[in-house]
Amino acid sequence: MATFKAIVIEKADKAQTVGLKDFDENDLMDGDVTVAVEWSTLNYKDGLAITGRAPVVRRFPMIPGIDFVGTVETSSHPDWKPGDRVILNGWGVGETHLGAYAEKARVKGDWLVRLPPGISPREAMAVGTAGYTAMLAVMALEHQGVAPDAGPVVVSGAAGGVGSVAVAILGKLGYRVIASTGRPEEADYLKELGAAEVIDRSELSGSVRPLARERWAGGIDSVGSTTLANMISMTKYGGAVAACGLAGGMDLPSSVAPFILRGVSLLGIDSVQCSPRKRSAAWARLDSDLDRGKLQAMTSQIGLSEVIEAAGNILEGRVRGRIVVKIR
Ligand code: NDP
Repeated sequence: MATFKAIVIEKADKAQTVGLKDFDENDLMDGDVTVAVEWSTLNYKDGLAITGRAPVVRRFPMIPGIDFVGTVETSSHPDWKPGDRVILNGWGVGETHLGAYAEKARVKGDWLVRLPPGISPREAMAVGTAGYTAMLAVMALEHQGVAPDAGPVVVSGAAGGVGSVAVAILGKLGYRVIASTGRPEEADYLKELGAAEVIDRSELSGSVRPLARERWAGGIDSVGSTTLANMISMTKYGGAVAACGLAGGMDLPSSVAPFILRGVSLLGIDSVQCSPRKRSAAWARLDSDLDRGKLQAMTSQIGLSEVIEAAGNILEGRVRGRIVVKIR
């Protein structure tokens, strides 16, 4: 029996348990590519899955972990051969398909993206799904015409994973970045990443006016709820806000006023089912537009055995930047 180390979530009598175990390779799910996983990462959704705080996992037993980088071991998919370095983000991996916190994964070849030559495997997971989502959000703002000369861009949840990568990318691209955080002690960290100004997140958590003073041309939001509603109401005429998260709540207590009186656009960002073409474009942009020194500065590293404890920390907003998980 060939086994490998994996974090496994099980459910019995409606109670979820999680532990580091030996997993039988024969129990991997169907897929045309088997990958030796080298690095993964910790995202907010991984925290939800491992703690069971939201119904992210829809199959038991489940190996959590929504993203990995690794080397192809075997493949019957025409695009991949043994030795290829690949990235996986999303597609239900770690939710409905056995995931990344394991030394081995079997997945569909269609889900994989080639590791760009300029990005190391560890860097790819320092970016992870959070960083790739931040890039998708930046691309959506660009597509909507929010250029650096249009005015400042606000980033909420700035000291978190999506937020830190968004601040670094926008800063490098020449935007004036306003970083919103509930952790004022991280102001120097955010300025090092590329923020021109740091504001307290309480400025975005008060009651929402239909139209507030115009403060920015665009925004990237990973918080949702009142924060997103305030960001929209403070967006300048013709601007846009990219919504990608719900760390503060899933509701949106907004009004139509910013949309119909200021022509503001709300751009939805989804990384899970995003098209392969857009994924590859995002990874190519990450290769060129994310400063590696800044990526390193926002990244800490843990091992597979530390993931379960870290899962609780990310949901409590206690994780700064990104965490990579060394699998092998
Ligand atoms: P992190 O925990 O790293 O970052 C979230 C940040 O949000 C925190 O660091 C904190 O920033 C802020 N925050 C947390 N709780 C609250 C609160 N109650 N009110 C206001 N601000 C709060 O998570 P990630 O960056 O990994 O993910 C962020 C969000 O984006 C999650 O909801 C995640 O599910 C979502 N996401 C969505 C994707 C998609 O495809 N659409 C892909 C990836 C992530 P600070 O301390 O600076 O205030």
